[in-house]
Amino acid sequence: MSNLRKVSRVILSIEASDGAGVKLRRSIGSELISELDPFLLLDNFGTENPDDYIAGFPSHPHRGFETVTYMIDGQMRHKDSTGAEGVLGPGSVQWMTAGRGIVHSEMPEQREGRMSGFQLWVNLPAKDKMCTPRYQNIDPEDVPEVSLDKVTLRVLAGEVEGPDSLVAGPVTGVATDPIYIDVMLSPGGSYRHAVPEGHTAFAYVFDGAVNVSGQDVTQHHLAILSDGDEVELSSETGGRAILVAGRPIGEPVARYGPFVMNSFDEIQQAVRDFQTGNF
Ligand code: FE
Repeated sequence: MSNLRKVSRVILSIEASDGAGVKLRRSIGSELISELDPFLLLDNFGTENPDDYIAGFPSHPHRGFETVTYMIDGQMRHKDSTGAEGVLGPGSVQWMTAGRGIVHSEMPEQREGRMSGFQLWVNLPAKDKMCTPRYQNIDPEDVPEVSLDKVTLRVLAGEVEGPDSLVAGPVTGVATDPIYIDVMLSPGGSYRHAVPEGHTAFAYVFDGAVNVSGQDVTQHHLAILSDGDEVELSSETGGRAILVAGRPIGEPVARYGPFVMNSFDEIQQAVRDFQTGNF
């Protein structure tokens, strides 16, 4: 018997800006919901207007967690203090484990056209917060796409039962054992996905309308799921959502801007290390 996860709370994301004035919609990490263990932030950027993205995210630090960028439209150039550099194009994923610290910038590689995607922050357990920074840069063609009846899935992390085999996302070795799937539903489409019991899970609808385990959820809304072992996404008129889950960490969170540690002392240390160039 499956235990269907219901929607426990629906939150309308709020308009915000970050970096040097990039307009976005924030749900997790806003005053509406400061965190959803292990998730610390969810931003959905999406605009046709270059003025809303052109200034990008100039040089800034991170310590103690992971930043996950999923580009849907447009191109961003990424550069960091380890010397790594690359362009994130449509459909690509960057899973960056900041660990003990990196300084990086993310700047648009375009002057016009649509830019859209997601940034998700995933916390790290205390034992991994000071690990060596690690990148998983995944090109669009390396994100498996699974076509089912009236449903197309892009599997960033986790596993999906394909028509003839199990399909695994390219992101691996992450402490919170995440699921991250882009679910595209044509009118009449329906999809069920297994989510381990005890893991935190949510769906964020960014196009059209999606029924999440019996509840209608429209564009720009975050649907937080109750516990259970499965979730059902369907749509009468068509819609698109990301389905994300991960194992909660259950440790104290001390947070100051781009630093997320377990105690205030560790935050002060992070600020000192950054100011003295020790990232
Ligand atoms: Fe960043």
